[in-house]
Amino acid sequence: MTTVNPATGGELRSYATHDRTQVDAILGAAHATSLRWAGTPLEERLQLLRRVGKLLTDRRRQYAALVTAEMGKPLTEALGEIDKCALNCDVVAELAPQWLADHPVPSSAHCSWLRYEPLGVVFAVMPWNFPFWQVLRFACAALAAGNAAVLKHSPNVTGCALALEQLFADAGAPEGLFASLLVAEPDVAETSARVIADPRVAAVTLTGSDRAGAAVASAAGQALKKTVLELGGSDPFVVLDDADLDAAAEAAVRSRFGNGGQSCIAAKRFVVADAVADEFVRLLATKVAGLRLGDPTLVGVTVGPMARPDLREQLHRQVAETLAQGAALVAGGRPVDGPGCYYEPTVLDHVLPGMTAFGEETFGPVAAVVRARDDEHALALANDTDYGLGAAVWGSAERALAVGSRIRSGALFVNAVVASDPRLPFGGTGRSGYGRELSAEGTREFTNVRTVYVG
Ligand code: NAP
Repeated sequence: MTTVNPATGGELRSYATHDRTQVDAILGAAHATSLRWAGTPLEERLQLLRRVGKLLTDRRRQYAALVTAEMGKPLTEALGEIDKCALNCDVVAELAPQWLADHPVPSSAHCSWLRYEPLGVVFAVMPWNFPFWQVLRFACAALAAGNAAVLKHSPNVTGCALALEQLFADAGAPEGLFASLLVAEPDVAETSARVIADPRVAAVTLTGSDRAGAAVASAAGQALKKTVLELGGSDPFVVLDDADLDAAAEAAVRSRFGNGGQSCIAAKRFVVADAVADEFVRLLATKVAGLRLGDPTLVGVTVGPMARPDLREQLHRQVAETLAQGAALVAGGRPVDGPGCYYEPTVLDHVLPGMTAFGEETFGPVAAVVRARDDEHALALANDTDYGLGAAVWGSAERALAVGSRIRSGALFVNAVVASDPRLPFGGTGRSGYGRELSAEGTREFTNVRTVYVG
């Protein structure tokens, strides 16, 4: 596997993939350690997370530079990602004793309660877009609950995968508690299915596309193993006619163009009331013109390259199709010539249901504006998707809440940008997946919720 810097197209490093024997040894070590870790006192498990958090803070510049080199996000955003990982370690270390405490439930028993017991080894298939955050989001929960973790990361962030393995080792994790499997095409589906079927693996979590989610869930279904799926989204960002337009446009740019638009919870379809649509698009275009596309290591650059050439080609196909279908181009619309994988920050207006940028998830710097006649029409447009990850509604609070409550999604944000918070559950519905990460709900996903009944 060779990693490539998307800002330059230059090769970074090559890595040998794991063969069958190595995969077997990794699973063996993870399983043996999981048995011991399950019996390790919770406070000791949480001490490990505290040390991981401290190391993340100490090494934030080193890790952020690696993230930027491998997937291209601006360095300031990479630093923010590492800091959020450290925060998550601290939050889990502080709150897991509540989240995992025995939970008394009155029943016909003399005494009955729920216990949250570990499952064993959790196999995690992860994407490249937040290469540290996605992993630590799942790993802190899984390890706190007493499980071991085996990670299969995206090949383009293999340096991050190995840095994460080393991070846990340096923090004092027992050998095998957190390991990275290095697999690449054409072996990914086959190796993953074999790992999932392995009796030493208890559960599977995947963050990525619905295509990959369906493949992994099928394999887990065959083996009757628990899955958590965090998949794609085509989140609506609804602007009602009484919204603060400047604040909404500012938030729209942050939500759509942060991380180069490569975020599952980025706002993707801007559903705007007709009465204010011209003004909103004008504000949006002005703010998009203020973005600085370029070398992600430079101070002041706000949008870096896309992570891979194939992703850029796919995005451009979506833009070209949407324009051919009758949408209006307000800004951008083209890949940037020259080295690196840059795509112009793009705004499309008059997008309609049935057009490509409405029906497909756009995973890059492209905002699609859809005009709505009234609140009911906005609601129908927002819900006209098979995805259901996040939704944002902008307008007077009561009205926005009323509209937002009828949108089908895993999270509703009113007058705020959809974002994850370690204290709040995160996940989707429909083709955006199922199960939750973060918070009490996410931590309990990787447990056997055991009923204890004393007669
Ligand atoms: P992807 O192709 O689904 O890849 C994600 C991970 O799944 C990678 O590690 C990939 O490995 C693996 N994978 C793919 N097919 C597999 C299979 N048959 N069996 C086992 N593993 C498999 O996603 P991507 O195109 O790189 O990333 C973009 C997509 O991910 C978007 O749809 C985005 O919305 C979604 N995403 C969702 C979230 C979320 O939190 N909900 C976060 C980030 C991204 P290989 O690359 O080696 O195939």
